[in-house]
Amino acid sequence: MASPAEEMEALRQQAFNCTDCDLACTRRHVVFGEGNPYAEVVLVGEGPGEWEDRTGRPFVGRAGKLLDAALKEAGLRREELYITNIVKCRATSEVGGRLRNRPPRVSEVRACRKWLEAQLRIIHPEVLVCIGGPAASLLLHKGFKMTDERGKWFPDTPYAPLAMAVLHPAYVLRQDGEDFLRARELLIEDLRKVRERL
Ligand code: SF4
Repeated sequence: MASPAEEMEALRQQAFNCTDCDLACTRRHVVFGEGNPYAEVVLVGEGPGEWEDRTGRPFVGRAGKLLDAALKEAGLRREELYITNIVKCRATSEVGGRLRNRPPRVSEVRACRKWLEAQLRIIHPEVLVCIGGPAASLLLHKGFKMTDERGKWFPDTPYAPLAMAVLHPAYVLRQDGEDFLRARELLIEDLRKVRERL
């Protein structure tokens, strides 16, 4: 019987060839996800951005660096976790001759979430952390309200016994001054709650 690491590698190879939605035509890399296939905690964002598309790795741009720093401050080590997205290829639209990130379409999410669901079946995490409101709306419940519901535990989800949503580091980066510091602290505070559950 294959180990979780072997199963994950086989899944990764399949996903690399995926052309199940139109994002296959514009991506540079399939950003499958990375980390520990035996992780107790899985972090899931909505989809990759420019730097992730360039490198094939999740959360590596400015937002990824902020996430890494927040994880460290919360006492979590990125290499012990598994980090991925719901949609594995970058969704873009052309604005003024430049490619901009856009939210994935419903059809793209529908086509892609099989990969995430297979990843979660292999890992069986104790805790699922949704990074940002869109991921929480897709994985926890529709119309998720970050202002009221971030940092709260959701028990008995289809994907893990416990789940929580935290602020997206890209949102934190869009804040200025005191608002930036406050949002960064909220992200760290929520990640600390995750660490305390382990
Ligand atoms: S976004 Fe998902 S479903 Fe669409 S091509 Fe990429 S891997 Fe396949």
